[in-house]
Amino acid sequence: MADSQVRVRFCPSPTGNPHVGMVRTALFNWAYARHTGGTFVFRIEDTDSARDSEESYEALLAALDWLGLTWDEGPLVGGPYGPYRQSERMAEGIYADVASRLLEGGFAYHCYCTPEELEERREIAKAERRAPGYDRHCRDLSGEQVAAYEAEGRSRVVRFRMPDHDWTWDDLVRGPITFAADQVPDFVLQRANGEPLYTLVNPVDDALMRITHVLRGEDLLSSTPRQLALYEALGEIGVTDGSIPRFGHLPYVMGEGNKKLSKRDPESSLQWYRDEGYLPEGLLNYLSLLGWSMGDDVEFFSKEQLAESFSLDRVSPNPARFDLKKCTAINGDWIRELSESELVERLVPFLAHDGLVTDPLTAEQRALLNAVVPLVRERMETLGQAVGMVGFLLVAEEEFTRDASDVEAQLTDDGCRVVAAALDALSNVETWDAAGIEDALRAALVDGLGLKPKFAFGPVRVAVTGSRVSPPLFESMEILGRDRSLGRLRSACDQGR
Ligand code: GLU
Ligand code: ZN
Repeated sequence: MADSQVRVRFCPSPTGNPHVGMVRTALFNWAYARHTGGTFVFRIEDTDSARDSEESYEALLAALDWLGLTWDEGPLVGGPYGPYRQSERMAEGIYADVASRLLEGGFAYHCYCTPEELEERREIAKAERRAPGYDRHCRDLSGEQVAAYEAEGRSRVVRFRMPDHDWTWDDLVRGPITFAADQVPDFVLQRANGEPLYTLVNPVDDALMRITHVLRGEDLLSSTPRQLALYEALGEIGVTDGSIPRFGHLPYVMGEGNKKLSKRDPESSLQWYRDEGYLPEGLLNYLSLLGWSMGDDVEFFSKEQLAESFSLDRVSPNPARFDLKKCTAINGDWIRELSESELVERLVPFLAHDGLVTDPLTAEQRALLNAVVPLVRERMETLGQAVGMVGFLLVAEEEFTRDASDVEAQLTDDGCRVVAAALDALSNVETWDAAGIEDALRAALVDGLGLKPKFAFGPVRVAVTGSRVSPPLFESMEILGRDRSLGRLRSACDQGR
């Protein structure tokens, strides 16, 4: 098979919010498709009306869009094997048709057991130390038994008849894997109300969409034998030409304390990264490292570079640890990769959200940001951090406030004497620029009052910027301007103490 025929898919269920594990799966599939010149299929597995939501569907589209993971076939763009939402495919009767063909061919059968009966027999099996899976009770019912159940008005599900042999595949990530026949009981394909289950729709669509490689999380590994078996049957009834996709199971992503990263961990939600101001470039870069490596210790690369060098033999079967610090550091590197004007653009939504600028920027706001961005880009790791760093420049003077604990620590009686001396010294500065400001302050505070720089500039910094952490002080004061700087030195010790 030529590589250009590679067809991979990302097929999330639209429940809840997109999370990073999901994004990692999408990314690896995308990268494999791009690397091989194959096709990246995006399919929505929304057959569970109780759990799926339109909101979550929209969030998935928005997530891939934000990340720039473009799909070749799927919602919005269509494709030759559509529709790509399983709810629409269900409405077209695709799964019901396959289910009835499986029944006709003897690959599936009706099971009339009630949940209570199943539970009861499961308990007995456990007590007798037998496998607790479905006991094949309805596999070979006689015509009379069926008639009797029907007469009772029992409902029936469709169950798959598992062949009695072991299941082996050569996993693209983990190598050969075998499940013994008795580990895989007959499973339900269709509910009593006719709704098809994941066990049916997922492999059926992989077959109908001609998927060649199934790359997905390790949590789904135990469903692979069932899918292989179903695939065999799909070949027999002519849904496929008998070919079976290769499977590769991507390693678990572990969170704090070596537990699997849970959907409930705040840092597992994609939206959290957007809100904090991670760049899609940075997040994708970090997520690429969760189970894959470029080699030669290269850890900083774009998604285009990832696509260029992605290969499955560099995907590790070992669990990957999610390291938020490292993710954040890589994001900081990506921030510094942006041009200054690009960084200003990306900051706008964050600053606008806090009412610090308008969107679009006014000329004056843009000038301020252009001036301050070079001072902060070295220290920023997320766009969100910029709000705190540059807010003091953009805020309207009557709304300027100082951090209460910084005030308490720095604007003590001693601190206020320093501020008064600074005000005095700066009132006479001729050219209001960083060098002039620095000279005046050093002369007055370090030489004049004999203070160590830390004690000299800390109070001034809190007075002028409102915080102990801020961009370089003298440059900040230059950008802030003479009037506003002096005004803040003046007000520092009568208010906020
Ligand atoms: N809809 C399934 C899920 O979100 C997809 C599983 C698969 O990739 O096969 O878990
Ligand atoms: Zn049964």
